[in-house]
Amino acid sequence: MVNQDLTTGDKAQVADQAQGSAESKKSASKMVTTSTAVSQVNREFQEKSTLKRAGDLELPYINIAKTPLNADFLKLVDYEDAQKARLIPFFRVGKKMRVAVEEPEDPETKSTIEALQKQGYEVNVNLASSAGIDDALKFYKSTQKYKKIEIIEKVEEGAIKTYEKEITQLKDLPKKLSEITAEEGLNLLNVAAMKTHASDVHYEPEEGRVVVRFRIDGVLHEVFTIDAGIYSKIAEQIKYQSKMKLNVVSIPQDGRYVFVFNKNKTAVRVASIPTPYGESFVCRYLPSGRKALTLEELGFQGLALKKLQKASTISQGMILVTGPTGSGKSTTLYSILGIMNTPENKIITLEDPVEYYMKGVTQSQVDESRDYNFATGLRSILRHDPDVVMIGEIRDIETAETAAQASLTGHILLSTLHTNSALEAIPRLVNMGLPSFMVAPALNTIVAQRLVRKVCPKCVTSEPISKSEEKEFSEIFENLKKVNPGIEAQIPDKIAKVHGCDACSNTGYLGRLVLAEVVTITSEMKQLILDNASSVDLIAAARKDGIITLREDGFLKVAQGLTTLEEVHRATSVLG
Ligand SMILES: [Zn+2]
Repeated sequence: MVNQDLTTGDKAQVADQAQGSAESKKSASKMVTTSTAVSQVNREFQEKSTLKRAGDLELPYINIAKTPLNADFLKLVDYEDAQKARLIPFFRVGKKMRVAVEEPEDPETKSTIEALQKQGYEVNVNLASSAGIDDALKFYKSTQKYKKIEIIEKVEEGAIKTYEKEITQLKDLPKKLSEITAEEGLNLLNVAAMKTHASDVHYEPEEGRVVVRFRIDGVLHEVFTIDAGIYSKIAEQIKYQSKMKLNVVSIPQDGRYVFVFNKNKTAVRVASIPTPYGESFVCRYLPSGRKALTLEELGFQGLALKKLQKASTISQGMILVTGPTGSGKSTTLYSILGIMNTPENKIITLEDPVEYYMKGVTQSQVDESRDYNFATGLRSILRHDPDVVMIGEIRDIETAETAAQASLTGHILLSTLHTNSALEAIPRLVNMGLPSFMVAPALNTIVAQRLVRKVCPKCVTSEPISKSEEKEFSEIFENLKKVNPGIEAQIPDKIAKVHGCDACSNTGYLGRLVLAEVVTITSEMKQLILDNASSVDLIAAARKDGIITLREDGFLKVAQGLTTLEEVHRATSVLG
């Protein structure tokens, strides 16, 4: 049973047990009031006694029930937190804010105020009556619907822009972070991620310090460490902006926020995990409005480029891109879609998740909770009469069957498969249960690809090739010339040596490049698939049509000075 005279400690407990004390208190006041008149007198009495108590506590008094509340200020504190803390933000200018509280010494109230202070707010505490807080909470709750839609916290471009000139060197960041508020600090980190083209920023707490690592061009780099004190403020700010629960630290949470930089919106997906030294965060940066790169810009060249350009003009059939996670498969699919994206073509995609937004393309995203997965989604997409369908991945027979049927009935179907080499896609589809009489006519082109880092043009030097490297080149190129007699493949005298400078964040590399193997399914190969021929026969037929393997493509690109042998070995090592 709840009564009006709970002590502070009890109240917090009741709040926990009874889904927030606002409702409990309401039912309590229902019991003690019998008419509106009595409640009016009661109310005036309560406000007067609160005013007196404020004087005793030397705090300003606020009649919060009569104060207009701004829904935007309410976003500064989660409804659930406001309810537990019995705290209402009612005024804010810049970093100065005023809050109404019922009990300033309540632990929930204190921790909510501390959380706000950690975000850099100067919090002015005002005393309000219990009934006033109840009224305000009621209003607060009514704004929730609106808040759910507006779940993305936008950071103004102006605020972000100020930090662009602050960043000259990443190693100066920790000092800068110690001089500014947490909000400014996170803005600075966002700009740092943008300027270095980082795809992810990792915050990894250790004893007494926190290691910050940026994933740039697919590789993680430790960029600096910050001390635990500064980190705790930054961590609060990350949680606040991405709408995570501030007071929850022991279970993983997911969140998201959006900021604008150089007119481009970037969504940041945030995931937290608890560690013995505090919460660790991984922030994935998903910039929108990026132009889909052309196949040439991605690094397709020579025979591979020609085959893929030709595939981009087909009127029906399946184009598959294969490779491990992080090999740039979807980027290649977006480039092909870019070629197919004309007013005459209706293009629909089903992705998990949507990575770029393309004008003129209807993009949809897998949503398992609505039973919208690759298999069911593909079937409903086909009812929308598309010319081209891109589907994120084929990983089950249902999807494979629908995809093959679609490509046999006048559609172009683009998708990805997890296989090491291009030709492995054929037995993979057959093993999934797709009959070879469907695989053979459906398949048009298969691409296998890897990503290697490009050398930084600002600091790269070249050095003479060693004897063992020369031997490697000669073996690879001799074999390549046997299959493709016309191909230009010269063993270089010198190859790239990487160093590191400001432009490449001291990694020696800048940007990435595709290594590709493109196989066109010729009529001879279709017959072999129908006959369930061995992979040796399939490889021989592909070789006859001219094919450059991933490793050969890598060596050609090292010979051109675009990347290094180390990168090619790293990217192709699983091939054996
Ligand atoms: Zn460099």
